[in-house]
Amino acid sequence: METNLKELANKLEINLSEEQLEQFFCYRKELKEWNEKINLTAITDDNEIVVKHFIDSLTIKKYVPEDSKLIDVGTGAGFPGIPLKIVMPSIDVTLLDSLQKRIYFLEDVIAKNGLKKIRCIHGRAEDVSRETFNREQYDIVVARAVANLATLAELCLPFAKVGGLFICMKGNKEDEIDEGKNAIQVLGGEIEKIEKIKLPSTEIDRTIICIRKEKHTPNEYPRKAGVPSKKPIGRI
Ligand code: SAM
Repeated sequence: METNLKELANKLEINLSEEQLEQFFCYRKELKEWNEKINLTAITDDNEIVVKHFIDSLTIKKYVPEDSKLIDVGTGAGFPGIPLKIVMPSIDVTLLDSLQKRIYFLEDVIAKNGLKKIRCIHGRAEDVSRETFNREQYDIVVARAVANLATLAELCLPFAKVGGLFICMKGNKEDEIDEGKNAIQVLGGEIEKIEKIKLPSTEIDRTIICIRKEKHTPNEYPRKAGVPSKKPIGRI
């Protein structure tokens, strides 16, 4: 794995140290062990974990400034938040998920890898982003594979500071972008960049959508837990 991960990370201009490779190795081992007891991922092959979880998570590193404060909304088994933390020790990371058992797993990985300046919150984004110490407090908000873009904008943009960036990681979903544009605007955001990439050494398509927080999110958002996914903010 070490060579494979190191080489693939190099293609993203990331040079992994021996310690970082060990941390990824430990993370993968824990992921596979815990996955036998609780549902964390459908991806269990060693190389696939490297490519589809670790390398995929690292594709957004170039958008994350050193020393920034980042929240990963709907982090699940820690993607993309933990891989980013491993390669960028200076960032302050909050991992948020609504499933308690996933939080137990994340806390174990954090402890076993001795990661610092990283914490987990168990809760729903709709509730947590209403707390004053979380609302509009983050430089960077990231989310992968959590919801459609309109729903995700409502779950994520309230966490971003004005001037901050929401980085949304998607497969190949053109229609969602059009459908999400109005929601993004209503919530104070603006699409700054859409980058289409292939995961290094694969034919797997990914879309990275960077949304700048231009204005404060109006107080009525997010709506009550569950509403953003049942009734996403629609087109005008
Ligand atoms: N981001 C991870 C990844 O890419 O592997 C996990 C993706 S998983 C499909 C979606 C995760 O989002 C689940 O762990 C779920 O518990 C969490 N989730 C869904 N809705 C949420 C909400 N409103 N607030 C917090 N977490 C949520």
